[in-house]
Amino acid sequence: MQLAIRAEVIGDEDLRKTISLSNQACQECIDIGMREHTFNKTRLHQLTYKVIRTAHPELNSSLVTAVRDQASDMLKRLKLKKKPTKKRDSSIRLNHNTFRLLPDSKLVSLSTIAGRRKYAVKIPPHFEKYEFKSSDSARIRTKKGRTFLDIIIETPTPKRRIVKKIIGIDRGVYNPAVTSDNTFFNSKRLRGVKGRYKHLKRCLQRAGTRSAKRHLQRLAGRERRFVADVNHCISKAIVNKDCDAIAIEELKTGSMKSKGRTGKKTRCLIGSWSARQLLSFIQYKAEMLGKSIILVNSHYTSQACNRCGDIRRTNRKGRIFQCCVCGYSLHADLNASRNIACLAKGRISRLVVNQPNVACDELKASLREELRASIVTSLASQMRGS
Ligand SMILES: [Zn+2]
Repeated sequence: MQLAIRAEVIGDEDLRKTISLSNQACQECIDIGMREHTFNKTRLHQLTYKVIRTAHPELNSSLVTAVRDQASDMLKRLKLKKKPTKKRDSSIRLNHNTFRLLPDSKLVSLSTIAGRRKYAVKIPPHFEKYEFKSSDSARIRTKKGRTFLDIIIETPTPKRRIVKKIIGIDRGVYNPAVTSDNTFFNSKRLRGVKGRYKHLKRCLQRAGTRSAKRHLQRLAGRERRFVADVNHCISKAIVNKDCDAIAIEELKTGSMKSKGRTGKKTRCLIGSWSARQLLSFIQYKAEMLGKSIILVNSHYTSQACNRCGDIRRTNRKGRIFQCCVCGYSLHADLNASRNIACLAKGRISRLVVNQPNVACDELKASLREELRASIVTSLASQMRGS
């Protein structure tokens, strides 16, 4: 399992100079690459290595080759159509020749313009519980006079739990997540904050001045961080629930788009919905705890009755689910999340008795049948239990 750590380095002037000089050398490589119209690493090496070593004798050969690789990748990303720019304080890549993490002594050894140096590194306390030896890839950058390291570390993956208890999660626009054990995570605060940002952005776009554009850029970052924070809180609460596996419906790109004629407001809401980020947070957090993620097909989960298994479109009336056959009534998202849990349970029990999985084919009829069968089986087991 890989983890990304952001740690502060107690750096000195030599380290800061190394970063700014490397960025300068990277820009020089980019300039040469654009002039000669190439991003090929070998070609770029022949063109730039001697030039950079002569211009900046303080940079050692490993730093120069790392800088050349970074320049090549930046040129490749923009397909030589536009010239990339490298700021003095942006990040530079480190590899096993220029960087070594010594987690036991909380030190990091780095190549600088003054030779190899050791610096103290502040690893956030949250990561101290993980066992990791060292790492051979990182990025280093400066921000407002401070130096930060982004390190990728490899830790042993926790053993998967035996699946006994499953909770289902239904994701939606109004309720980002509803779990089958009656927990609702609503997006009221999220929508309020997003609305405020939207208004502010509209005003700034209308102003169109240079300072307004700078302000807009700052706002974009702030809004993105706020959304990520909300998703982190929701995913943490979900994975810490008492369960061994989490069942989530698969949302394809098509199902995330609005179907048919919808109003502007709904389109905006769906457009700003960050369901994929929430799923990725739940996935990696569950993996850290040894819990499994079961992805199930989302077809009919909001139309099926969780008590009798009846499936029809008219069962759902807005946010309320009311079964046309047995009259069972429940919040529509809660009903869907329970159906998702049933589907996952059905899939797990089939795997245990080693029967073929009928849901693999995309036939809607078999999906309907699978969902109905899962609900009926889970009901029967509940009745046996009670
Ligand atoms: Zn029913």
